Amino acid sequence: MMKCNTVHNKLIFFLEKELPVSEMKQVQQHLDECSECARFAAEMKNTLQILESDKLTDENPFFYTRVKARLEKQEEKQPAARPVLLRILQPVAFSIILLLGIYGGFKLGEAPKITTADTSLSEQEMVPYWNELDAEPIESFLME
Ligand SMILES: [Zn+2]
Repeated sequence: MMKCNTVHNKLIFFLEKELPVSEMKQVQQHLDECSECARFAAEMKNTLQILESDKLTDENPFFYTRVKARLEKQEEKQPAARPVLLRILQPVAFSIILLLGIYGGFKLGEAPKITTADTSLSEQEMVPYWNELDAEPIESFLME
């Protein structure tokens, strides 16, 4: 008998009927006996059907609305996704600013007049970018 893991890996091919006949039988047999995998298979089948109906978007706006509502519902289940991304992005942005500062300072000592203008320009450009990131309420980070 197949292991649950093996079944999970083959499931998408099973649902698309792309497995060799012998494996199709083995997966089907497992699903008959394992309620957990059967439920997983049902969910995946559902998802595949959503993807299928997504292809009909242009002809059928009703399907699109349903898919969209469904996707939004799924997003609600993962509220952590955005803060995690920001937590990665914020230090990166900070490093860039830091590097620009070091680079700018370095150039400043090297060639005074023209570079000074360049540096202040790039700093001005960075400010709105930084503010945009900083606009995210800090509490959402601390709450994590
Ligand atoms: Zn199983």
